[in-house]
Formats: sequence, C-alpha cells, structure tokens
Amino acid sequence: MTQDTLTGIGSVTMPDGALADIAFAEGRIAAILPAGMLPDAFDMRGHVALPPLVEAHIHLDKTLLGLPFQSHLPGATVAERIAQEKSLRASLPLSAFERGNALVRQVAGYGTQAIRSHVDIDGDLGLSGLEDLLKLREAVADLVDVQIVAFPQNGILRDAPVADLLADALANGADLIGGLDPAGIDRDVAGHLDVVFGLADRFGVGVDIHLHDAGELGLFELAEIAKRTEALGLQGKVAVSHAFALGSDLPGVGAVVEALAKARVSIVTNGPNRMVAMPPVAMLRAAGVEVVAGSDNIRDAWSPHGDGDMLRRAGLIAYMQDFRDDSDLEVALSMATSAGARLLGLTDYGLAEGARADMLLVGASCVAEAVAGVPMQRVSVRGGRVIARDCAIV
Ligand SMILES: [Zn+2]
Repeated sequence: MTQDTLTGIGSVTMPDGALADIAFAEGRIAAILPAGMLPDAFDMRGHVALPPLVEAHIHLDKTLLGLPFQSHLPGATVAERIAQEKSLRASLPLSAFERGNALVRQVAGYGTQAIRSHVDIDGDLGLSGLEDLLKLREAVADLVDVQIVAFPQNGILRDAPVADLLADALANGADLIGGLDPAGIDRDVAGHLDVVFGLADRFGVGVDIHLHDAGELGLFELAEIAKRTEALGLQGKVAVSHAFALGSDLPGVGAVVEALAKARVSIVTNGPNRMVAMPPVAMLRAAGVEVVAGSDNIRDAWSPHGDGDMLRRAGLIAYMQDFRDDSDLEVALSMATSAGARLLGLTDYGLAEGARADMLLVGASCVAEAVAGVPMQRVSVRGGRVIARDCAIV
C-alpha cells in the first residue's frame, strides 16, 4: 500500500467473517458493501478489519522510552517502588513530554488510537507532569485521542498538598480523578475515598482507582467504591484498575462482584502473572461487570516489560485466562477495543457506516487468529488516512 489517503479498501474480512469492501468519504465510513462492489478500492485481501485498539491504562509520564535501557530497581512493596521511582526521576535527562511522545508513537504504530493515561501528581512534581501531557495530547492528536487521569502516586493523605493539587489538575485539564490503595498507601480508606469521590462530584468527572490491596481488605475497598459510586450517581463512570482482590477465592467475592455490576464499576486489567491474583474475566463478564484491558507500566521504574501493543496484550490476557475457543479470543480482543471505547466514552467508534474511518487491518484470516498470532503485518487507518504500517508510524 502506497497511498496515504484512501477512497476505500476492498475484500477485507470483517469481524463476523464476511468479505467486504469499505468505502470512505471525507474521513468517514461511507458504506460497507459485499466484496467486489468497489473496483477502485485498495485490495486488502488476507486482512481482518478491526476497530482501532484502545489502551485503557498507561503511564505516559513514567516511561523511560527514548533513554538507554534502565536496569530494574528492586522494591518489594508498592511503597518501596514509589521511593525508587522518586530517586530515579530526579536524574532523568528527558522530559515526560519527550518520553511520553516516544511511547505514543510506539503504541500508535501498533494500531492504538485512544489512550487513557494516568499522570503522577505529588508534592514534588506538582502539576509539571500534567502540563507535559497536556502539551503532548495536542502534539499527537493526529495519531491518538488521549484522556488524562490525575493520579496520586504518592498517596493523598500522607502527602499533604496532594488533595489541593488534584483539584488544580482537574481545573486545568485532567479528565478524571485517580486514586491509589486507600488502605495500603494512605491507611485510611474513608479519608482517601472522601477526597477522590469528593473531587469527582465537585468537578463532574469520572474516577479510575489503582487498587493493589488484596484479600478481604481489597474486597472491602471495592464494596466501598461501589457504594460511593451509587450514592453520587456515578454509575458507568468509575473504574478500578488491577483489583487483585477479585482473583481471590474468598467467599465474599460474589457479593462484591454483584455490587460492582449494580454500580456499573468497570475493572481494568493488564493480565498480571501469578505473583498476584488476576480478576476472573469470564466470571465478571457473566455477572455484568465490564472488564477492560490496559498495558499499565511500560519500560519504567515499575517494570522493564511491555511494549504497548494492545493486540499482544489481548493475546496475553487470553493466555492468562486459558481462553482457547474463537469466541473467547474474540472476548479478549473486545477488552482491547470496544470495551475500552465504552470505558473512555468514545463516540464515533466502530466499524459502521457513518462512523469515522478509523480501523486496524491485521494480516490474519479472522479475529481469533489475530489475537492468537499477533501478526506484525498491520495497517492503521485514521480518518481514512494510513497512519501506521507494519507496526510503525508512517
Ligand atoms: Zn498503573
């Protein structure tokens, strides 16, 4: 494929298996027709058309991409890692804008077109990370849509200026309020959640809380989050990332899952390894809880792993959950596409006539093969224009 702006693509496999031609007009999907109806369309036989990948949890300000490889700094607990990250941060030669830009270009190369990024807000950094990410959001608007969560990485109550800084962040462009282990970090569940939900209510924004706290403690916090979500009428606007407590075999899990479903609290997972308990995807979905995929840390002080490829992430989640049937692999992909789009509140998303001509064409015979094989042969189309080919920005 050589041309950058397309009038349409031909003989592509749709997610339901049908062969189709897709006509573009003024950056939108003008028509989806049986294959062979658009003789001038660019032939994409052998590719399956997917809606764009959605990254629901990333830290653009933390990545060390753009710098030489940084050996991992040890730290067993969340608190120890926070301290390690602070010491590393003091000596970085590249700004959050520069490092985040390297990561955005990488993830957009893979076919991601929408991102929810957390940004650290603490007493040392103030709003500097947010300012960088707001500039970055403008600079990369042609590649991706970026949503920003004001994230208290150092806690709220134990870092006195943070509550006010979070309010400033929301007044100055952050889209959502974050939180972090109300018990594990701040040791005050009610106090932490009072600030987080108070700010959500005051600014009319959604919530996305990092919750590593496991076992009964984590389940209690999830129940509190569900309760506050309903009390403030925030149903559908609250997410909990990680939620390892849901992966335990404690008898209280069922009741908490019911409460999350009722409050329409979404769960975001990166498909963690067996060092922690992963939320059970199929059980949560069956109970009516939306489960969404995100990369989380990529090549930063928290993890040397990750590349930001959400197709690979969908495959990893499928692997960790022992998903093998085509229908289960399709579920894994939906966590990195349509479920992410719902979480981010994207309008204009999906392979439908009238929607923006945004899509990812993957060299595979079907969705299941795309998730299982993670092919590098890809074309990312945004607004009818090719923005990436074979996993690199054009
Ligand atoms: Zn995170």
